[in-house]
Amino acid sequence: MNTVEMIAQYGHEEVAFFTNEAAKLKCIIAIHSTKLGPALGGCRLYPYKSMDAALFDVLRLSRGMSFKNAAAGMPIGGGKGVIIADPSEKTDALFEAYAECVESLGGRYLTAEDVNTDTHDADIMLRKTQYVVGRADVSGDPSPFTAIGCFDGIRATAKFTFGTDDLNGLTIAVQGLGKVGYDLACQLHAAGAKLIVCNNKNREIMAKAVNELGATEVAADEIYGVDCDIFAPCALGAIVNYDTIPQFKCKAIAGAANNVILDDECGVALKKKGIVYAPDFIINGGGVINAGQEAFTTYDKENVLKQVHNIYNTVYNILEESKATGEPEGVIAQRFAENRIKNGL
Ligand code: NAD
Repeated sequence: MNTVEMIAQYGHEEVAFFTNEAAKLKCIIAIHSTKLGPALGGCRLYPYKSMDAALFDVLRLSRGMSFKNAAAGMPIGGGKGVIIADPSEKTDALFEAYAECVESLGGRYLTAEDVNTDTHDADIMLRKTQYVVGRADVSGDPSPFTAIGCFDGIRATAKFTFGTDDLNGLTIAVQGLGKVGYDLACQLHAAGAKLIVCNNKNREIMAKAVNELGATEVAADEIYGVDCDIFAPCALGAIVNYDTIPQFKCKAIAGAANNVILDDECGVALKKKGIVYAPDFIINGGGVINAGQEAFTTYDKENVLKQVHNIYNTVYNILEESKATGEPEGVIAQRFAENRIKNGL
């Protein structure tokens, strides 16, 4: 299937290409669905090798946002923006020009931060469009909310797998100690879990995890095969693949990373191996629940936390259904989100 065929197959409502020569802007904004509300998804800036590679990414990501937002129970659709540029080429003019593109869509697409864009860039966008969420002065950094949702999702996974959501004494391997991973590791440690960790950079954070959380450090390529109860991917996508599945000794996989499973076949293989999987776009929805509130209501942290804690129930119900039907957890999660998009929340 080529990328243009993908548009029809995924059912995108609108895919818009924009250029602005003076600002050196080339971008694509994909609106996958506005059935539940305006399409929300961050703006990714990346030095894509080709327009086709950028189109492939934005189509996949925008559809993923429709699923994530619907599964989180928000009256929001799914979209995404990609700017084809090197992060070293970021300028005010570039983000102002991108914001004009967002503005031209009249509120059908709401932008936010993503890979290589941050709250500073979002502030620049605000000069030209009101359609920006995840503002530093309103909902702020989404990562702590993502970590809270992941912690709840891990507890639900433990309840399903081991019969109790008490993590005390469980061994949990955390891959990646970044904004979400380190925060999650702190919560797991406070709940009595034993930690095995790895991180490919940042020695300082590794030393902190070892000294303050009593974590055991392993090399980045050893983490897949460690003896643990739960593996929590918090770094990269596609880490459940043909190489790693034979290595896993864990009973369950539950963490923050996006697009954890390489492809459908790997989802089936994981299920066959008897490893429980908490679907990524369900368990990592805390951040978008936080930012998304800006889109449809007055931001209220208590309300956000209530919605984020509900990730526990959503994860648990999906795991139960997967057990009942024998289908991979990711298939159940996608159907759950698609039904909400089709039939309403
Ligand atoms: P981050 O960049 O702050 O942290 C990622 C960490 O992983 C970094 O410390 C990096 O050094 C480490 N890392 C990279 N490659 C690694 C490897 N091969 N082995 C071990 N460690 C490695 O990112 P983040 O915001 O914490 O997000 C983590 C994951 O969660 C990403 O996949 C992201 O897409 C996903 N996610 C994040 C949020 C959020 O609110 N930040 C929301 C939803 C999903």
